[in-house]
Amino acid sequence: MPTVVKTKSQQNKSVTPMMAQFLAIKEQHQDSLLFYRMGDFYELFFDDAVKAAAALDIALTKRGKHEGEDIPMCGVPVHSAEGYLLRLIRRGFRVAVAEQTESPAEAKKRGSKSVVARDVVRLVTPGTITEDSLLDARSHNFLVAISRGGQNYALAWADMSTGEFMCSTATQDSLGAQLSRLNPGEVIIPDRWMDDPAMENLVDEWDSVLTPLPSARFDSQNGEKRLKTLFEVSALDAFGQFSRPELAAAGALVDYVELTQKGKFPHIKPPLQQAADDVMSIDGATRRNLELTRTMSGDRQGSLLATIDRTITGAGARKLGADISSPLTGVEAIHHRLNMTDYFHQDDRRREALRDILRRCPDMERALNRLALGRGGPRDMAAIRDGLSETANLRATLDTANISDDVSGIHEAAEHLGLHAELVDELTRALAGDLPLLPRDGGFIATGYRPDLDEMKTLRDESRRHIANLQAKYSELANVPSLKIKHNNVLGYFIEVTPRFADNMGEDFIHRQTMANAIRYSTVELGELEDKISRAADRALALEQELFTELQEMILGRGTAILEAAEAMATLDVAASHADLAKDLNYTRPVVDDSLEFEIKGGRHPVVEAALKSNADGAFVANDCVLNSENRLWLLTGPNMAGKSTFLRQNALITILAQIGSYVPAEHAHIGVVDQLFSRVGAADDLARGRSTFMVEMVETATILNQAGARALVILDEIGRGTATFDGLSIAWATVEHLHDINSCRGLFATHYHELTALSGKLGGLSNHSLKVREWKGDVIFLHEVGPGSADRSYGIQVAKLAGLPKAVVTRAEDVLHHLEEKDQKNAKAKLVDDLPLFATVVEETAREEAVAAPSEMEVRISEINVDDLTPREAHALLYDLKGMLGED
Ligand code: ATP
Repeated sequence: MPTVVKTKSQQNKSVTPMMAQFLAIKEQHQDSLLFYRMGDFYELFFDDAVKAAAALDIALTKRGKHEGEDIPMCGVPVHSAEGYLLRLIRRGFRVAVAEQTESPAEAKKRGSKSVVARDVVRLVTPGTITEDSLLDARSHNFLVAISRGGQNYALAWADMSTGEFMCSTATQDSLGAQLSRLNPGEVIIPDRWMDDPAMENLVDEWDSVLTPLPSARFDSQNGEKRLKTLFEVSALDAFGQFSRPELAAAGALVDYVELTQKGKFPHIKPPLQQAADDVMSIDGATRRNLELTRTMSGDRQGSLLATIDRTITGAGARKLGADISSPLTGVEAIHHRLNMTDYFHQDDRRREALRDILRRCPDMERALNRLALGRGGPRDMAAIRDGLSETANLRATLDTANISDDVSGIHEAAEHLGLHAELVDELTRALAGDLPLLPRDGGFIATGYRPDLDEMKTLRDESRRHIANLQAKYSELANVPSLKIKHNNVLGYFIEVTPRFADNMGEDFIHRQTMANAIRYSTVELGELEDKISRAADRALALEQELFTELQEMILGRGTAILEAAEAMATLDVAASHADLAKDLNYTRPVVDDSLEFEIKGGRHPVVEAALKSNADGAFVANDCVLNSENRLWLLTGPNMAGKSTFLRQNALITILAQIGSYVPAEHAHIGVVDQLFSRVGAADDLARGRSTFMVEMVETATILNQAGARALVILDEIGRGTATFDGLSIAWATVEHLHDINSCRGLFATHYHELTALSGKLGGLSNHSLKVREWKGDVIFLHEVGPGSADRSYGIQVAKLAGLPKAVVTRAEDVLHHLEEKDQKNAKAKLVDDLPLFATVVEETAREEAVAAPSEMEVRISEINVDDLTPREAHALLYDLKGMLGED
């Protein structure tokens, strides 16, 4: 809801000039909270104050009246505003920051009652933040714009903090998958989509991050113009052949960045086109199910990303996250990455040396863009200096002269690291050792860099020494040992004595102020000295600001080369991370080609394996999975808890790892490129969108059956469980047939409907596989081994017993199962109905327990033994007997 304030014309005449200014600014930013700068605080008024006070849990006060009513007010200190901004952005607010654009002295020149001019200098929105404290160093924060032209859609996305800028086309069907891949912080769309039934799904799903903008901003001609102006080119051909919707989306994005940054622009790279089929299509449900970058509960810990992330730098971590979200489909591109991983895998010393250097590399991408947006400081310059100064070391470590051309990625990275000696040298000479956060604090230019600056500083510092001398002189002159020269913002420098020495102060001392326990004076000499000091300090500070701007321009002038170097570092970091992981956990290089093979020998689930290791729960049992054009579907049966879901997911995750250029947790893997990955594992209600568990399951299954092509890999776990047994079985049955006959894709289908195993007789490309268990005295032991054939039962009741279901219920369930499994079903059902109700089993419990506790054959045999009567030979024979009873010889 926009914050409603009266327009200027509606304002009461009695409104103060300041409030009038506030209302005028607020009128332009109705959809944002207005941070209105007053001294050291950002103040919020009216509804903004009420909302912010509640969201930030800060005190709501009031200030003056408007139209007879108190004006609610709250405020946050400027120096800690970032933390408050973060909380507001996370809660879905946008914030307009209005700063003072002139000093009070300047305002006074226009008249004694003039209000200091203020203007909004920035709109803070979730997709446009750049501050380190507001961002996660290890993930991207994408701003996405979407546009439509006929049936075609396009997305443009940028990470303002790193300068990445890309676009691609999409269909209505693939739009959701693309957005899920980017996991955007903010999505801008034409406002008319909010009521467009065709866009209902998109609006529903992404509601919390949507920013609707006037549709006119999504104009392709305008977009083209904006891009040409931004990148200073007369034609965009050098960047790619962009479709109309792509131009519209990219233009709207650029427009929005300018709008929120009030004209300032980050160091954004020219847009790169990403063909939709360059990356594996993975829809939102599949991403969630497979827990690629977050677990189902939203944590990073426990996701595939967290398990395999061995990167050192923030940029490396961001790249790895982006890679996992967009596995490649081009065989060559995959080999390009795998070769880099291989390179670091083969040479532990080189890998470690590289990683040691990366540990010293700060986040140059984000530092550069803060500088580009005018929000940077001396520390950002130092980050760039330190990062660039390592490029030479990194290149030396790569030793490209001695490696084969096959590892083209390493050669490319070495080249992109670039040569930056001049800039590094300049920054090294320019920057002091201890750096302030903001340029306005001064003191960041090293001594010796600019002699004129040093002169001013000496003057300033010497003058301070003069003050100390003057204090000693006056103290002696007036004979007041406690006389002090002090400084405050109102009086400047002054001489202070206690009242009892007032008579000591001669004519030279000009009275300035009398306090309860002090009298303050100045002298002409002190005034002159003060002037000199402040002029020297002002001039030093002004010169430092000038030098800051010069250095900033120098850095931004090399912005593209710096970003290239940063990207090369991130690429090396990721490749070394893959290699480190592979070495540590014994992963192997996958064979990836254009075939339709899928052959995994000794495959493991990376996350479950890691969890078992850390809990010391035993070793993960590796399993094979072989799919190909003749045998493309596996129907997997097996008891509950045996490891079906784990097996299904591990094959999907191995595919993703292979196609991002990582080694895989398997003894051997041969993967014919997968272009679409679908997974429906586990069920979740989507009550917020009015969908029951079963409905969600069916929507997801429908998506798969409608979209999966021949190169897809489909993972389906227990389809059709949320409805009546026969309905579910029928749906599962028809689904398997459709996957086999129509989609003709590779897939794994896990089920507890054992009836489905009959399908292997009918469908040539379907085979049955199952997870093995061993039964031991009524209990099941999970072997987690996948083998050919089908399971005959699910052992659900045994698993329920392990889970601690009340004994009475377990016993009763066994009874019911026994009846249900009878051949004569009609008779069995009648018996069930006539049977004792559930609670009666409790009464029968004792008798049953006795029955259950009746001694086994072995126990009877052992109790009959009279040990003293046995000869050694008999004892030997007896042991054989007992082993025989166990079925062992
Ligand atoms: P249900 O049919 O009840 O959903 P499931 O057959 O899908 O069960 P999973 O959820 O895959 O079973 O596995 C159950 C647990 O067994 C896992 O959490 C894991 O700890 C363990 N497990 C699964 N596979 C293996 C394996 N190959 N090696 C070792 N432990 C495994």
